[in-house]
Amino acid sequence: MFDNQSKELQEMRESVRKLAHKLIPQFRSSEFYNTVPRRLFSSFAELGLAGLSIPEDYDGIAASAATSAAVLEEVAAVDLGPAIFISVHSMVSGIIARGGSEDQKRRYLPKMSSGEFLGAFALTEPSAGSDARNLKSSAKRDGDTFILNGSKCYITSAGWADLYVTFAKTSENGEEGISCFIVEANTPGLIISSPEKKMGCELSPIASLTFENMRLAKSQLLGTLHKGYATALGGLAGGRVNIAACANGLSRTAIEKAVAHLNERQQFGSKLMEFQGLQFMLADMQMKYEAARLLTLNAADLLDQATKSPEARMAPSIAKCYATDAAMQITTDAVQLLGGAGYIKDYDVERLMRDAKMLQIVEGTNQIQRMLIARELAKAAA
Ligand SMILES: Cc1cc2nc3c(=O)[nH]c(=O)nc-3n(C[C@H](O)[C@H](O)[C@H](O)COP(=O)(O)OP(=O)(O)OC[C@H]3O[C@@H](n4cnc5c(N)ncnc54)[C@H](O)[C@@H]3O)c2cc1C
Repeated sequence: MFDNQSKELQEMRESVRKLAHKLIPQFRSSEFYNTVPRRLFSSFAELGLAGLSIPEDYDGIAASAATSAAVLEEVAAVDLGPAIFISVHSMVSGIIARGGSEDQKRRYLPKMSSGEFLGAFALTEPSAGSDARNLKSSAKRDGDTFILNGSKCYITSAGWADLYVTFAKTSENGEEGISCFIVEANTPGLIISSPEKKMGCELSPIASLTFENMRLAKSQLLGTLHKGYATALGGLAGGRVNIAACANGLSRTAIEKAVAHLNERQQFGSKLMEFQGLQFMLADMQMKYEAARLLTLNAADLLDQATKSPEARMAPSIAKCYATDAAMQITTDAVQLLGGAGYIKDYDVERLMRDAKMLQIVEGTNQIQRMLIARELAKAAA
């Protein structure tokens, strides 16, 4: 059913796992926190990870959603940060590949594939988060150009990205009046704040963007005028599967660390692993992880087949919501199983718990995923 057992994928997984273990620890210091270490991005690009969503004609590897999920799980199992900026880059390159003009594809995709260009996704605004269609940024037509004004917040890779796929109002017609633009980082009128200080995910910066009378050529419009909201939703479906995969990476590492600790630490004259109460916690963690992986693979498979059914529309939300809630629970339980050590940074389990929290919020909070699932059920029953 899934292509997650193919020899080619197993080899790619293995290469990604090895590279992640070798390279990422070199960037775990305050010098690199809240930056996108471009050497790290380039090294993953050499393995094809910058071209996951890019067709071979534009130098990408056109990976299936199942392959993307598998490799992102490997990166996140070592550190969530690079998995997030690669996932966002992949969502953005996928949007350009599906909806861009031939000129846009030739201009951006080969450079995105090689890792020369990093992509970012700019939808959220200070007054439009979950209610993204209510955004205020506007792009007003002026002859052959658009004048973009407004602001975005919490944008992954802001300050490091080379291009921002940006959503703005082009008419006052609600979600039917939103358009999508490619904003290059060096366009006059783009102001980027310093990175936010956040709770975790240190190797993936976020910052705010302000557009001040930015003049964009008509050629920077991505897709059809006023149809940008559908473009955003299309990108987010794949993005949610990737976020689920990232959550699974955190869960897997948390379980591995908990097992190692329970096998080693003794209290009351026995290994912790011999206490049934702890065994039951561990079993629950593993069951949740395996269920989350299957839901992720199912959602990826439905995306790959471009299935159009209520189940297929719900699947990315179900995978994202379940896997990230599971990761939150699993990483919290891992901290508990390590006792005091779980709370100490050197043991590297508390990081997983802080990172898991982010995944319940991004790409549509888990309340919003539940709303989307319930909406599909209601529609199907109507
Ligand atoms: C680390 C990080 C990286 C991010 N990266 C990006 C990025 O690259 N690009 C981008 O565009 N955005 C990005 N975001 C923004 C993210 O997508 C938003 O934070 C998220 O969609 C929630 O929006 P909000 O923060 O405005 O919360 P709000 O919408 O204000 O929600 C606050 C709370 O209310 C709940 N809520 C809201 N409406 C409802 C409702 N109708 N029913 C029930 N509950 C509801 C929410 O679930 C949440 O719990 C990032 C955020 C973070 C933290």
